[in-house]
Amino acid sequence: MSARILVVDDQPLNVKLLEAKLTAEYYDVVTAADGVEALEKAADVRPDIILLDVMMPGMNGYEVCKRLKNDPELDHIPVVMVTALDASRDRIRGIEAGADDFLTKPINDVALFARVRSLLRMKLALDELRLRDNVSLQLGELGTSDKDDDGAVGRILVVENNPFDRKLIESELAEEYSLTSVTSSEDALAALIEPYQLIIVSVDLGEDDGLRVCSQIRSRDATRNTPLLMLIEEGDDHHLAKGLDLGVNDYLYKPLDKHELIARTRNQIRHHRYQERLRGTYHRTVSMAITDSLTGLYNRHYLDSHLAAVLDRSRTDGRPLAVAIIDIDFFKVVNDTHGHAAGDQVLRELAVRLEKSIRASDLVARLGGEEFIVVMSDTDMDTAQAITARLCRDVEAEPFAASLIDGGLAVTASIGVAVIDHRDKTPDDLVHRADVALYEAKHNGRNQVIAALG
Ligand code: GH3
Ligand code: MG
Ligand code: MG
Repeated sequence: MSARILVVDDQPLNVKLLEAKLTAEYYDVVTAADGVEALEKAADVRPDIILLDVMMPGMNGYEVCKRLKNDPELDHIPVVMVTALDASRDRIRGIEAGADDFLTKPINDVALFARVRSLLRMKLALDELRLRDNVSLQLGELGTSDKDDDGAVGRILVVENNPFDRKLIESELAEEYSLTSVTSSEDALAALIEPYQLIIVSVDLGEDDGLRVCSQIRSRDATRNTPLLMLIEEGDDHHLAKGLDLGVNDYLYKPLDKHELIARTRNQIRHHRYQERLRGTYHRTVSMAITDSLTGLYNRHYLDSHLAAVLDRSRTDGRPLAVAIIDIDFFKVVNDTHGHAAGDQVLRELAVRLEKSIRASDLVARLGGEEFIVVMSDTDMDTAQAITARLCRDVEAEPFAASLIDGGLAVTASIGVAVIDHRDKTPDDLVHRADVALYEAKHNGRNQVIAALG
């Protein structure tokens, strides 16, 4: 995942050091030596993340951060403040200025790359949702409403077996949120039947492993998008990196700092609500004109407008973009043998399976008949092939639940995949190449994935 990072520091040596580390990991690095230059560069190059030194002559890091967060064009870019001391007062000022995270000098590599990866993931998902919102707007739909939340308090699940830390969390958060507290992984998983806006998990659960709880939370559909805040001993880089790889959204070091706890909790919940609202808006406001009535997926009309926007952005950002066309094999036989209603059921079930197997930021649409398309942002050919190969296997492995057919119905699909290329002038060119690959998959014996040549 290549991304652009703006490094801001008044000490040339610090800039060089960070630049070298990040470039070695193939990030595209842009630098600025003071606050004014940082604001200019941010507006100019639109970085994906900003690493911002706090102590700078002239305009300090807090001020820079505040201005970024007050600019509607730039406020979505995650800002990581780099503080000289691990003083919690600095962090509170940073949070007040709108910082999304902190790193302490000297910068630890594990923490640096873990934070960068995790913030990038979050930003990409958000960008995608914002983009969709714009597409809806273009189609004459309502965008995200600015209405306030309906006033419901956030529900938080706390998984912590250290009585001291649990008490601290309860005393700080109980007033503003509805808390459920458990001490073991077993109780945590049992508690997941209720929805939460945030789950706080301690890595150390005595006999139990908090990371395993995190992994379970991420693998369940109902909690896949629920923010996870991990509590961890300072310096435990090993578990920190693992947790962030599992999809933990944020972490707090022990001993817990109460201000930081409150700020991070509020940030996560606010962020989650924002995402939910975008999701909700897009589900509510999409009219019949852009959805397919049989499956509830987007239709071709929406796809065209979405794809044009994503393609543009992918070009500007220099990021890969993959599309896959999925076509059910011998679908006519299903209709002929079991009836049109059974065929419809298969189409609906495939739609559900496709939606489940993709990331929130990807998009599925029904192209027509028994043909579907998946649009995967920031996805290269290797990844796209891995995803679609798994999908193809899963379709074959799990019979479809068409009523009146014992044991379900065996279905296979053929898939053509293409990744954006300089020859693709229009969205149709990209889709066409995926289509040609699909045709080849059919020709080769079906039930397989074929990649369009680059
Ligand atoms: P191939 O493996 O080459 O893709 O063969 P196929 O039979 O799947 O493809 P073909 O294009 O010959 O047939 C597609 C069938 O899909 C024919 C059409 O009746 C059926 N179909 C299209 N839309 C719907 C629908 O909304 N519901 C149902 N039940 N069937 C549909
Ligand atoms: Mg077919
Ligand atoms: Mg067909």
